Amino acid sequence: MKLSGDGPRKVVFMRGESWNSSISEFLQLANDIINNGFKFIDPFQTYQNQFTFYVDLKKSDDQSVPTFIGNETRGLTWSDTETASLRAASSCNGVTDSDSMYLLYTGKPLFLGSGLGLSNFTNNIAAFADDNGREPYVTIHEMGHIFGKLFDEYLYSQSGSVWNLSVRWGVSAKNCTPHPSWDYRARNNKIYGSTVATGCGFMYSSEDFKGQPIRYYRPSLLGIMSGTYSLFNVIDCGYIVAAIQGQAPTQENASKHWPENDPSAPWNIGCMLMAKSGVVIKDGIPPLSPTPNLTTINE
Ligand SMILES: [Zn+2]
Repeated sequence: MKLSGDGPRKVVFMRGESWNSSISEFLQLANDIINNGFKFIDPFQTYQNQFTFYVDLKKSDDQSVPTFIGNETRGLTWSDTETASLRAASSCNGVTDSDSMYLLYTGKPLFLGSGLGLSNFTNNIAAFADDNGREPYVTIHEMGHIFGKLFDEYLYSQSGSVWNLSVRWGVSAKNCTPHPSWDYRARNNKIYGSTVATGCGFMYSSEDFKGQPIRYYRPSLLGIMSGTYSLFNVIDCGYIVAAIQGQAPTQENASKHWPENDPSAPWNIGCMLMAKSGVVIKDGIPPLSPTPNLTTINE
């Protein structure tokens, strides 16, 4: 059932069999997340007319959502097979496309020691447990994963995250990077993220690669992807705007949306423009850097 909106990016709200809610409670939750998440947190707020929201009133079999109670520090995985069958079983599957986002609210117990949401990048689906997991900012954080293809900007552990390592091969986002002065630099040669904030989803990979530990950086000290704030930073914002516009969330595409305006598409609202009005984080942006000596950058 269509809830609201008329844009090309589709979002489906689903509820699990384990969540004992009435239809009116579920509709109230979906509307709360739309109004206080999608229509409140940028860049979703600025581009809200690009979305259509659906609600699947049928309860979905949510037994496949991993349950974990304890001090899990390395993340959990939710299989591609299970998430694909959840999408296929949705009564909204006929109106959506493969790029649509599915958001599943369950009554299962807390499934991460410290987390409230769980994402599968392959099938663009996220699950949310318990009352705290139903806060709008948690849904928007998970949208950062499944829609912007962003990594968590906090540390799972000193040795890195198996979860992040497992998805990084299929994900091109560079919000976590060992080379911030390259990966946060736009075509205009300005750097739009912090080059000093260390610690991102997988800070070190030594345990997995038996090599030299790699130090990863994140674009801002605080932010919604680090779970410490309810705003995105300029770098993350660019990846999401790229996705909203139907572009692959690569560094090249994201970087076009970091400045106030994209010269090739001046009608677009850039992330720095949002940052100037305080709805996106620009803290951590270093002063304008001199022209680098590097001429070719490959990673
Ligand atoms: Zn996360």
